[in-house]
Amino acid sequence: MKNLILLGASGNIGTQTIDVVRQHPTEFTIEAMSVGERTEALRDYLRTSPLKYACVKNKTIAEQFQKEYPATRFFHGDQGLIEITSIEEGNWVVNALQGFVGLLPTINAIRHKKNVCLANKETLVAAGEIVNRELRENKVELIPIDSEHSAIFQCLMGNRKKDVNKLIITASGGSFRNLKREELKNVTLAQALSHPNWNMGKKITIDSATMMNKGFEVTEAHWLFDIDYDRIETVIHRESIVHSLVEFNDHTVMAQLGVSDMRIPIQFALTYPKRYPNTSEALDLVKVGTLHFEMMNYERFPLLKLAYDTGKAGGNLSAVMNGANEQAVRLFLNEKIAFTAIEELIFETVSRAEYISNPTVEQIIESDRWAQEKVRQLARI
Ligand code: MG
Repeated sequence: MKNLILLGASGNIGTQTIDVVRQHPTEFTIEAMSVGERTEALRDYLRTSPLKYACVKNKTIAEQFQKEYPATRFFHGDQGLIEITSIEEGNWVVNALQGFVGLLPTINAIRHKKNVCLANKETLVAAGEIVNRELRENKVELIPIDSEHSAIFQCLMGNRKKDVNKLIITASGGSFRNLKREELKNVTLAQALSHPNWNMGKKITIDSATMMNKGFEVTEAHWLFDIDYDRIETVIHRESIVHSLVEFNDHTVMAQLGVSDMRIPIQFALTYPKRYPNTSEALDLVKVGTLHFEMMNYERFPLLKLAYDTGKAGGNLSAVMNGANEQAVRLFLNEKIAFTAIEELIFETVSRAEYISNPTVEQIIESDRWAQEKVRQLARI
């Protein structure tokens, strides 16, 4: 039995995790969950299922909940996310938080000897080296949930790492894949938020449109699979059926395929190394008919190139890039800046950053704070 602590339960990955757990009630139980501001999701959950612990963003709301549900213990705020990952009743943390706020709960979970199923990208982008060190020292596992990393993880099962030639990460191309760079000037928020293949949270949909998301995935793959950046490729694959591939030294290429349904990789992260039946749609290749692959254009998507560059430079630079992106995307979502300004602000911020080699957790947090503030300054907000 896996006893789960689910962080980010009201988001896209969080709600699908609850769906997966409900399909296998004898295998998994949710002992604790956190939601941010969408507390209705928590109320809905508590109507049908008990929880030992819960965390919400706001202190007053936590106190109201505590009166209504005395059998559950409530935490609140960023500190609450740390406390809820320390509880003894949970042995697996599913981190489906969005943004840099996901980092400290991951580290705390590992330090409390809990295995982690990770959907929070910012954890490894900002602090991959530190997280890997903590995993080694505490001897716990980290299993990726993101479809691309789940695909690579599955292709590597039963193979020797030294036989790997390269990883090939597929990219749908995002909302603006049919537009040229000069056509991006006047795009709207609503256009940016309509992804061709996946229904996801707002931030990751914007990150997909800028291709920053693919840059994050390259960085995550580097830390998850211990592979040099020069051996991680990206390719445009519009259908989002092949979720990623691994090429071995005998030129065998293994791929993982499936419909665009995140419940499949979420479930696999929970059941690994076993597989269970589910209610997801089966892949019908005849119905799909044709699969397309196109060369990635790094001039069209410079943030992807930037992720390679900051990743290779190491130190705190990926954390700076991540912080700048988080703030720039927030400003775009609040309609304070144009779509093309996201990229400009990130480049400008990274170029002004002070390089720190072998940063501590505190220095990563400070780099994130500095980058977010620098973006606001540069955007004059
Ligand atoms: Mg992905």
